[in-house]
Amino acid sequence: MQYQQDKAQAQEIARLVFPLMTRLGIPMNPVNYALWYEYHLGRSEELVSVLDKIVSGEQVYEAEQASALFMRYVATPGVEALGRIESEVCRLLADVIQVVIDAGLDLGKYSNLLQSCSNRLDSADDLRAIHGLVSTLKADTHSMADSSRQAAGALKARADEIDVLRAELDRVRLEAVRDPLTGLSNRRAFDARLAESLDDSLQQLKKICLLMVDIDHFKKINDEHGHQIGDKILQYVASVLKKNFKGKDLVARYGGDEFAVIIENAPVAGVKTIAEMIRQQISESTLKRTDTGEPLGTVTVSIGYDCVKPDDNPDKVLKRADKALYSAKQNGRNRVELYRG
Ligand code: GH3
Ligand code: MG
Repeated sequence: MQYQQDKAQAQEIARLVFPLMTRLGIPMNPVNYALWYEYHLGRSEELVSVLDKIVSGEQVYEAEQASALFMRYVATPGVEALGRIESEVCRLLADVIQVVIDAGLDLGKYSNLLQSCSNRLDSADDLRAIHGLVSTLKADTHSMADSSRQAAGALKARADEIDVLRAELDRVRLEAVRDPLTGLSNRRAFDARLAESLDDSLQQLKKICLLMVDIDHFKKINDEHGHQIGDKILQYVASVLKKNFKGKDLVARYGGDEFAVIIENAPVAGVKTIAEMIRQQISESTLKRTDTGEPLGTVTVSIGYDCVKPDDNPDKVLKRADKALYSAKQNGRNRVELYRG
């Protein structure tokens, strides 16, 4: 995230944010402060509406939620790392260019020397003169070979550094689109892909459907078994989703205990079947704590879905799938519902 406020504006925001955080009993750590700073800037309607609920007392502020919100609305993953890699690449390029220039100069010197040897050879009339020329040639050829070896060594070292940077770039690129807890795509990747798929679907009349999957009473699971177990359940649900979708379908952690799936080229009836299968697989699993063997009880999910219509945009189809999810919750949870407008 970029911040362009000058000192006075930043102080004014701090003057508003400190008392508010104090009144709400929110620990004044960097993550929380950045979030509430963003809240005051009001650049994201979504963040404002989530934090408005905390301000009004409708919801309690929780540390995980805060870090998830921070990752979504404040942090720009990988940007610092990318900046560092970029300046490393510039330095390496400058080094490589210098090595090549130096080698070029040496080669130039060597070719001048050969030329002068050749001229002197034409006019050399005794063995001593020829012997002297050969000795010079030999010494300079050795020194040329040395500097070529040095240049090759320097270039090899730079090539190795470039390999390390390339691997780091791949890692950063992956981190920017992946949810670290579940290994699924993150919301950023999901949003980008949904927009792209919708363009495709309009152009090529592909059938795109969207599933929203949310764990039922997940807060209770956290409360009863602790957040670490909560995290394991999130990983488990992610693994069931991952197992059921392949190819061009995209499974993402949309946020908190909510997952979203973009399904391509599936008939609505097929989407219902697969959603039912997932719901059933999760509800029938008998999960236990790995440390104590204690059963964790039944975990269920509710699923809402809808498919893309001709004049859709990402926001419209997301809202419809979300409404379907809401009615699955309203109608008793552990259910799959298609949006009915
Ligand atoms: P519902 O059936 O209506 O979906 O109820 P719920 O309790 O699942 O819904 P709610 O949205 O109230 O609770 C979601 C909870 O998910 C709240 C939050 O503490 C928890 N949560 C969000 N992210 C994480 C996380 O990364 N790890 C863990 N363990 N909990 C998380
Ligand atoms: Mg839930």
